[in-house]
Amino acid sequence: MSNKWVYLFKEGNAGMKALLGGKGANLAEMSNIGLPVPQGFTVTTEACTEYYNQNMKLSDEIRTQIDESLKIIESQTEKQFGNKENPLLVSVRSGAKFSMPGMMDTILNLGLNDETVAGIAKITNNERFAFDSYRRFIQMFGDVVQEISKEKFDRVLDDAKEANAYQDDTQLTAEDLKKIVVAYKKIIKDETGKDFPMDPKEQLLMAIEAVFRSWNNNRAISYRNMNDIPHDIGTAVNVQSMVYGNMGDDSGTGVAFTRNPATGENKLYGEFLINAQGEDVVAGIRTPKDINDLKDIMPDIYQQFHDTANLLENHYKDMQDIEFTIEKGKLYMLQTRTGKRTAAAALCAATEMVEEGLITKEEAILRLDPVSLDQLLHPTFETAALAAAELLATGLPASPGAATGKVYFTAESVCTAVANGEETILVRKETSPEDIEGMYAANGILTARGGMTSHAAVVARGMGKCCVAGCESIKVDEASRQFIVGGMVFKEGDYISLNGSTGKVYKGSIKTMTPELSGHFGEIMAWADEYRTLNVRTNADTPRDAEVAVRFGAEGIGLCRTEHMFFDEVRIPIVRRMILASTKAQREEALAKILPMQKKDFIGIYKAMEGRPVTVRLLDPPLHEFLPTEEKDIAALATDIGITNDDMIAVISGLKEFNPMLGHRGCRLAITYPEIAEMQTRAIMEAAIEAKEAYGFDVVPEIMIPLIGIKEELTYLDEVVRKIAEQVKAEKKSDIKYLVGTMMEIPRATLIADQIAETAEFFSFGTNDLTQMTYGFSRDDAGKFITDYKEKGILKNDPFESIDIEGVGKLVETGVTLGRQTKPDLKVGVCGEHGGDPKSIYFFHKVGLDYVSCSPFRVPIARLAAAQAAL
Ligand code: PEP
Ligand code: MG
Repeated sequence: MSNKWVYLFKEGNAGMKALLGGKGANLAEMSNIGLPVPQGFTVTTEACTEYYNQNMKLSDEIRTQIDESLKIIESQTEKQFGNKENPLLVSVRSGAKFSMPGMMDTILNLGLNDETVAGIAKITNNERFAFDSYRRFIQMFGDVVQEISKEKFDRVLDDAKEANAYQDDTQLTAEDLKKIVVAYKKIIKDETGKDFPMDPKEQLLMAIEAVFRSWNNNRAISYRNMNDIPHDIGTAVNVQSMVYGNMGDDSGTGVAFTRNPATGENKLYGEFLINAQGEDVVAGIRTPKDINDLKDIMPDIYQQFHDTANLLENHYKDMQDIEFTIEKGKLYMLQTRTGKRTAAAALCAATEMVEEGLITKEEAILRLDPVSLDQLLHPTFETAALAAAELLATGLPASPGAATGKVYFTAESVCTAVANGEETILVRKETSPEDIEGMYAANGILTARGGMTSHAAVVARGMGKCCVAGCESIKVDEASRQFIVGGMVFKEGDYISLNGSTGKVYKGSIKTMTPELSGHFGEIMAWADEYRTLNVRTNADTPRDAEVAVRFGAEGIGLCRTEHMFFDEVRIPIVRRMILASTKAQREEALAKILPMQKKDFIGIYKAMEGRPVTVRLLDPPLHEFLPTEEKDIAALATDIGITNDDMIAVISGLKEFNPMLGHRGCRLAITYPEIAEMQTRAIMEAAIEAKEAYGFDVVPEIMIPLIGIKEELTYLDEVVRKIAEQVKAEKKSDIKYLVGTMMEIPRATLIADQIAETAEFFSFGTNDLTQMTYGFSRDDAGKFITDYKEKGILKNDPFESIDIEGVGKLVETGVTLGRQTKPDLKVGVCGEHGGDPKSIYFFHKVGLDYVSCSPFRVPIARLAAAQAAL
């Protein structure tokens, strides 16, 4: 059976992204809705996989199909490959299912050779243009197909410019370019031992293979790793007849978004260059003009483009990112795809599209990436600090946000500095796809050249990273690792700050602050709340965190870890006395001093939560975590307690454990020292009663016992807790309600959840410990090998980040089912890190949890993810 490996544009459609790649599928769709798309065909992603299966060779069948498609293109365009009079020239571009901007390779002007170049010169009546295209083609072919360093070609070009004292490439004459072509061909011969291939078909097959190879170049692999794109889906290759934006002043090329990708404003947004070829705009070599200026230069073309952009947005019902070329007064559409946008733009566009009736509320919710909301929650510069800051320069506001850090000039030095814990800003003349890892690691990116659609700008927006681009007043000298602006020299390690929303660059570091959450954000969140059924709580241990979380929409506290309350400067000496007490009486004396302090903490938290439910967990970590480790601190503690230094060292080492995570912690502490649990229960209850009196909030504390694995652990501690709780109620003559429940974080507990639920009034899955103990991976050490596991394909994801549905998830599901067999209305939540991870939230929704609890900054993410799960 033979396969279909090649599709003409007219044979595909937008639904075929997996097979034709995003670009190919959209080119097909545009052709089919009658837009002016240059003719071409797509070699499928399956052909790419086949190429790899056949030891990186194109099979005869694929070659034949390419040949047949080429013949059709030749007849449609009435041009032929290699024809001296009327040659067909094509572009060869990658295009995977998921957009990977700039990660793979492109070749333009393919089909040029010593003969066809003359044909092009004649048809266009422009010899200079023909030879300029030819030299560009040889350079790209040499770089992409034959892997010859770009610099070798650049040097020839620079030498020619220098010899003629030219400032700009455009000053090179046809005669200059002819010489450059000869020199380029010599580079190819010297480097490969072979002549530059003159046969266009040979050029084409070599180029297609090179694009397939580029699927596995380093930057493409790291991009896929960072964006969770599978490595085995391959890229398609689009072969398309060339149109030229560099044929004179009636030609041009550009990139535009149907809405502003930084703010979402519903207005065409983009850039173009007159008399330029495709890559010139994105490469940031010349600074392009605003798309709205096209109205004055070519009013008809502008109108046609404007209408086409509207048509495409209505057709796809989403913001489009469109590439176009104008060839001698005729508009061609080269590409359309869903426009990458900042989180703010995504929210603005989604809400406005609902208002415009273009999409439904459900569609708006489903198309937003919950994690990207993070970009909106993070700090901006403090107004006062900003006012005092010294402005150095202004570039383009390429990607919003605020960033402060030390300047570094290469991606590697950024990565090294970040590994050493430094905050960094990557400063480059312009970025290229090789810089991707440095861009990812840096706090912000500053480039001296390039527009709003330059590589730096596009990639930074995708990452949600602050970026100022095209800041032409800074003179970057990458070789000597410095930049100069206004007579000041900034060297590696000097601090600067960037405002990606205004394009401003400041001297030194500037303090930041948290943003306002209203407008489109508030609207989307309100819609999300209409659809979701999962409640969203927060993990918070302080009134301040609790307040932030409430502002973000938290509906309660799912986990208040009390250990942080023991670390305070004033308290820690008392806590240490409590730990080192040799009698129960001594311990109780210390605990009595801690009690009012804990109570005050809880009152603060109850107040911040304004009557929303609060789950407080009894002390969890092993006690030695509270003891000093430094010699001088140990000596001071010994003096304080009144024992010898040696005795102190002996006590401390007696508390040391080989596996503290599996040691004397959680409920085990309370079983050994019930007085700790008693003190905490008293503090929780008294605080609730007092908060009710003081603020009128009906607080129903949920007292949570950690690390239960045995039914009897819980029955024992339940009794301890209830005894004190009832005592407090009686003392205070209060009828306050409270619940006693448990963390589910030991695999055994999930398996006997029916028995545990006989006592527990609620469950909260501690998926951090549950993952640790299910895998037998230490939470604190797994980072060392999980990367290797991922690289070797043993694990797809880090199970501490996203729930392992098959294993840990099965335990969660079992726990829920068994627990509700005993108590059908048992309240069940999750408070491990997974509570803020969208993929995990979809799972928790599916298995019927009542709520997820996550850190305050993840609350909006969880609200949106919960709504998506419900839709
Ligand atoms: C858990 O184990 O998932 C949990 C929430 O508790 P902690 O992280 O404090 O151990
Ligand atoms: Mg835990």
